[in-house]
Amino acid sequence: MFEYAPAPESRSIVDLAPSYGLFIDGAFDPPSADGGVFKTVNPASEEVLAEVSAAGPRDVDRAVAAARRAFGPWSALPGAERAKYLFRIARIIQERSRELAVLESLDNGKPIRESRDVDLPLVAAHFFYYAGWADKLRYAGLGPDPRPLGVAAQVIPWNFPLLMLAWKIAPALACGNTVVLKPAETTPLSALFFADVCRQAELPPGVVNILTGAGDTGRLLVEHPGVDKVAFTGSTEVGRQIARAVAGTRKRVGLELGGKAANIIFDDAPIDQAVEGIVNGIFFNQGHVCCAGSRLLVQESVYDEVLTALKRRMATLRVGDPLDKNTDIGAINSAAQLERIRTLSEVGDTEGAQRWSPACELPEHGYWFAPTIFTGVTQAHRIAREEIFGPVLSVLTFRTPAEAIEKANNTPYGLSAGVWSEKGSRILAVADKLRAGVVWANTFNKFDPTSPFGGYKESGYGREGGRHGLEAYLA
Ligand code: NAD
Ligand code: MG
Repeated sequence: MFEYAPAPESRSIVDLAPSYGLFIDGAFDPPSADGGVFKTVNPASEEVLAEVSAAGPRDVDRAVAAARRAFGPWSALPGAERAKYLFRIARIIQERSRELAVLESLDNGKPIRESRDVDLPLVAAHFFYYAGWADKLRYAGLGPDPRPLGVAAQVIPWNFPLLMLAWKIAPALACGNTVVLKPAETTPLSALFFADVCRQAELPPGVVNILTGAGDTGRLLVEHPGVDKVAFTGSTEVGRQIARAVAGTRKRVGLELGGKAANIIFDDAPIDQAVEGIVNGIFFNQGHVCCAGSRLLVQESVYDEVLTALKRRMATLRVGDPLDKNTDIGAINSAAQLERIRTLSEVGDTEGAQRWSPACELPEHGYWFAPTIFTGVTQAHRIAREEIFGPVLSVLTFRTPAEAIEKANNTPYGLSAGVWSEKGSRILAVADKLRAGVVWANTFNKFDPTSPFGGYKESGYGREGGRHGLEAYLA
């Protein structure tokens, strides 16, 4: 095996303040007396990065009121004028992409290679893409004069902080809505830097408001009577609470929740490529991916070959410093998430599955979990049914295509799936029967702003991305 010298990206490009206020009506303000403060840490070192505000009821009131005031003039702008702001935001994101990538890796723990080469390019691409729609909404197939909904309350998770922000804010603004967005409590910083990007782009005050805080702030925001639309990405449990909270109100809701995707390997698949796809499917972003390929379904006749190749490949994965450009797997985002991964993995052990990880040295400080596979998993095992949201793969087998389809669909979720086969007709036939919002063929975890993304069943409802993503913000 090769030894690599460390190749750390410098963090000096990020200028962190000791504390941050809330971004309301174009300005950063301290929280009101009913709010508070909390700290965000670097999960790779447990170092405190900054103190951040927790918005209380009065702050939520103020942010929603600012978004309401901004809505009239913003929605009255010609689409081509709104597009100019979005194009400007996209270009500033590109110009500041190194700074934002380092910041994202610091606050989230993801490898710089991913924040630099995946997250940031996709963030800019989302703004460019929806900027292009802003003056063409009447051609979106939603009637001759589609109208914005009003004020959108948007709550996002910690796994792709800036990318989830882009998925939410870009279409909302393109369609003429204004937003109040709450980032996750463990990754608030890139949203606050995005607020600065909005100021740099001279976006009118109140069009974008950023409220940091924990679940309580999120609840206050989605339950606020001044909100017209709720967009949420996160756990199915919180998604259910939100659906209950907005039931019977005039609010429109979009929910993007969990997943337990099947990655299906047929015996005629190009095995080396499939192994890369398996690794990318479950170890990308430490497995903190709602559409992760966390259930591997391998055809029995190639099981030994696939497992041998997979283990060999996993032994080459480098776990460690997220800012090192050689790192494949970074830190687990929080102590709480690490605890969830450990607990569910122990359930895998006690239920009789066999755990395997390559030898790897984990750093002393911070939150880490070695890439792990469980073999001998049956459909009854909890690790085959519940979302682990970490670098843990459950391996199952099948004999026939019908069995593969049945097992793949045997889940309360339905966000994504993967099919690996040399045969185009087989891929199409299987994809047609999979109850999943996205089906990847001979690839996995590929994202593009032009492609709609969303779930079946308990993975939520509504689509984000593409022309379909406009529907969530227009009436
Ligand atoms: P979560 O659902 O608790 O948090 C997501 C966001 O919702 C955060 O911003 C949080 O502050 C906010 N929130 C929490 N309670 C709320 C409430 N009652 N009302 C409004 N907003 C609220 O997710 P988590 O605790 O960070 O992670 C738990 C599990 O969720 C993970 O293990 C994983 O299975 C799943 N998850 C899924 C995704 C996804 O992309 N689908 C992302 C993150 C987590
Ligand atoms: Mg953090």
